[in-house]
Amino acid sequence: MAAESDAVHGGRRRHVLLFPLPYQGHINPMFRLAGLLHARGFSVTVFHTHFNAPDPARHPQYRFVPVPVPDGTSGPAPAAIEDVIAQILALGAACESGFRDRLAAVLEEYSRDAVACLIADAHLLPIFEVTAKLAVPTLALRTGSAACFACFLAYPMLFEKGYLPVKGMSSDPASVRRTFLVARRNNRNTCSSDRRELTRSMDAESQRDMPVSELTPYRVRDLMVFLGDDDRGSLRELLARAVTAVKVSSGLILNTFDALERRELEGLRRDLTVPVFDIGPLHKFSPAGDSSLLRQDRSCLDWLDARPPASALYVSFGSLACMSPRDLVETAWGIAGSGVPFLWVVRPGMVRGSAHQEQELPEGFEAATRGRGMVVAWAPQEEVLRHRAVGGFWTHNGWNSTTESVCEGVPMLCCPYFGDQMGNARYVEHVWRVGFEVGGELERGAVEAAIRRLITGKDGAEMRARAGELKKAAEECIGKGGSSCLAIDKLIAHMTSL
Ligand code: UDP
Repeated sequence: MAAESDAVHGGRRRHVLLFPLPYQGHINPMFRLAGLLHARGFSVTVFHTHFNAPDPARHPQYRFVPVPVPDGTSGPAPAAIEDVIAQILALGAACESGFRDRLAAVLEEYSRDAVACLIADAHLLPIFEVTAKLAVPTLALRTGSAACFACFLAYPMLFEKGYLPVKGMSSDPASVRRTFLVARRNNRNTCSSDRRELTRSMDAESQRDMPVSELTPYRVRDLMVFLGDDDRGSLRELLARAVTAVKVSSGLILNTFDALERRELEGLRRDLTVPVFDIGPLHKFSPAGDSSLLRQDRSCLDWLDARPPASALYVSFGSLACMSPRDLVETAWGIAGSGVPFLWVVRPGMVRGSAHQEQELPEGFEAATRGRGMVVAWAPQEEVLRHRAVGGFWTHNGWNSTTESVCEGVPMLCCPYFGDQMGNARYVEHVWRVGFEVGGELERGAVEAAIRRLITGKDGAEMRARAGELKKAAEECIGKGGSSCLAIDKLIAHMTSL
C-alpha cells in the first residue's frame, strides 16, 4: 500500500509523536488515531502527564514518554467544569519545559528526519509553541464536532454582536424561578430583591432562547457558556488558545465525518487556512484501543445477552459530568417508574459530595428494580451500544458518546451538562432527529415519560429508524472509497510531506 511505504524512511518506520489531553474523552480518540497510524506503518511515541497516565502494559506496541510537571498541577480530577478548565490551562503551561527537554531527547535519539510530525490535542497550545521552536511540524486533534470548533472560531463575534455574555444570569434561571415561587407560596410578600432577581433571570432566559443566525441551528443556550459572568475569562481563554493552536498547526484532525457534518466541515475549510481532515468516527477504524482509565465491568454484556432486541435503556453521563444528589434521586425513580430494563453507569464520584456508588442510590431503588436493571461503575460503552438489546441511550452528549451512539443506530435521550454537550444535543434533536432532550429540571414523572417515549413510543421508533439510516451513512464514510477513508489517505500523505 502506498501509504504504508510512505511511513517508511531509510528502510525504517517513521515515527509519529502524540500528546493527548489527559481526560477520557480526549484520550480515547487520540489512542484510536494511534492505532490507525500504527496500522499504516508508523512507530508511535506517546507523551503524557502523570495525571491520568495511560498504562503502557496495555499498549506494548507504543513507546511512552512521561512529561514531568511541577508539583501541584496534577492531583485528582476536579469535579466542577470551571476547575477542569483551570486544570487544562495549568497543565498545558506546566508541561512546557518538561516537554521541551523530553522532545529534544527523543528527536536526538530517533534522528530528526525519521520523525514525521507530532499530533497534539488542540487544548495544549504550549506544546505547539515548543514544537514550533524545535521545527517539528505539528497537527492539532480536536476531539469535538466540527460545529463545536466553528463555535470556538465565532466566540469573539458572539461577544461583539451581544449574544454573549448572557446578561444578568447569576444563577440557573429555573432554580431562581422555583425559589421565587416557593418564597411566594410561603410568604405572600416576596421582597423586591427576589423580584429583581426573577426579572433578571427571566431576561437571561429569553436571551438564552435567541437563535444564533450565524451558527444555525444553535441558540444562545446551546453555546459554551458558564452560568453567570463569573468565569473570570478562563473559558474564553481556553477557546482562544485552541483556535490559536489550530491556526499555527500544520492541519486540523477532526473525529467527525462527512455524513454527519458536511456543511459544518465546508464552513471550517472556508474559514481556516490549514487543511482539515475529517477522519471519524475513529473508534470504527481502530476498534481494539483499550484506553479506559477506569476498569470496564464486562459482566453487563452477559446481562444484555438475556434481553430482547432494542428493549433496554443504557444510561451514562460520561467521565466528568456530576449530578446533584437531588437529580440522582429523580433519575433513579424515573428509571424505576418507567418499567423499562436498564443498564446504568453510576461512576464513583458522579454525585456531588459523595465518593461511593453504594451511598448514592436511593434506598429501595434496588428492590424496586430487581431483575430488571443493572448498575455498574463503568461499562465497555462501545460494545454496550453495539449490543442488539440496547434500544436507547440516555446520555450527557459528550462528542464521543454521541458519535458512538449514532454509529450503532441507537437513539438518544439527551441530558447535556456543560461545554459542547448542549450543542451536540441540539444537533441530535433538531438536525439528525435521532433523539430529544429531557428538558428543564429533572423530575421523575418527566423522566419516566421520556424513557417510555424513547424505548416503546412511536416517535422513539421513528428516531431509531433515522438513527439506523445514519449508521448506514457512517458505514459508507468508513468503507472503501468513503470520505473518511480518503481523508485518512490525505492525512498520511500530508504527514509524510511535512
Ligand atoms: N465510556 C466508557 N464507559 C462508560 C462511560 C463512558 O468506556 O461507562 C467512554 C465512552 O465510550 C467515550 C468516553 O468514555 O468514549 C467518554 O467521552 P465523551 O466525549 O462521551 O464524554 P466525556 O467523558 O468527555 O464527558
